[in-house]
Amino acid sequence: MEIIENRKDLLTILNTWKDLNLTTAFVPTMGYLHEGHLSLVKKGNEQADKSIVSIFVNPTQFGPNEDFSQYPRDLNRDITLLNEANCDLIFAPDVDEIYDGSQIPHWSVPDSLSLRLCGRSRPGHFDGVVEVVTRLFTLIPADFAIFGEKDYQQLCIIKTMTNALKLKPKILSGPIIRNPEGLALSSRNKYLNDLEKNTALCLFQSIQEAKKMAAIDPTMNAQSILEYLKGTLFNNPLIKLDYLEIIDERNLSLLENLNPFARLMIAVYIGQTRLIDNANLFE
Ligand code: AMP
Repeated sequence: MEIIENRKDLLTILNTWKDLNLTTAFVPTMGYLHEGHLSLVKKGNEQADKSIVSIFVNPTQFGPNEDFSQYPRDLNRDITLLNEANCDLIFAPDVDEIYDGSQIPHWSVPDSLSLRLCGRSRPGHFDGVVEVVTRLFTLIPADFAIFGEKDYQQLCIIKTMTNALKLKPKILSGPIIRNPEGLALSSRNKYLNDLEKNTALCLFQSIQEAKKMAAIDPTMNAQSILEYLKGTLFNNPLIKLDYLEIIDERNLSLLENLNPFARLMIAVYIGQTRLIDNANLFE
């Protein structure tokens, strides 16, 4: 496994692989890796000859009052995990290596995708995501890039952006990996104490409850499901609900009645920690 910190060395390796006609799969991450990230690396290894993982905590996608400086980092641990996962190349640049003043194609996130859900409570977040992913795709024009459904809105935005800018990678996605109790794995789970971790199970429980209701009435009014969940599982002083919505997963628009593309989208604060989760209600 190669560990690279700068563009020049990255280009040398990518060119060697290109000369050998090897295909590549790229998994962008912010590090502090867990089984969710590693499932995407596994998918990359299945899809392509070589897998590449970037580890970069991108400052431009954090708001001024968010956790950029506290975001957990442990490169040595990440290296061990990626070695075990048969990753071929780690790209772990510093901020100046990514934001070096070079020109990249520009694309503005349409309001219909950026001003809703996470975009509403994190203004500018998706502009930062789009910029860093465009920079990374320019440096690493892989055949495939793999993102988790955990960040479902991000996945939709990146698919749309990659199409609009005609960037190289084919975007693939992987399902949400959870702990045995159902909590979606996240680097931010490190912030939770035991009580908060237990409280955080409301996310998965709400998905299960919503699925049960959807199974009984597949065209049910979305609002009645949301009202039920708000009055029961989220009616807890330790939980601050950021959003709870049922959307059409094809375009993120709000759904009045369920259809086969209905996806429950959830964001909560538990203590200081913001957690998100989502699921299609019929899968
Ligand atoms: P992050 O390091 O949080 O930026 O995440 C890097 C990639 O891993 C993103 O595509 C995430 O959607 C994905 N990811 C994060 N957590 C999970 C999870 N629990 N299951 C599957 N993919 C995940």
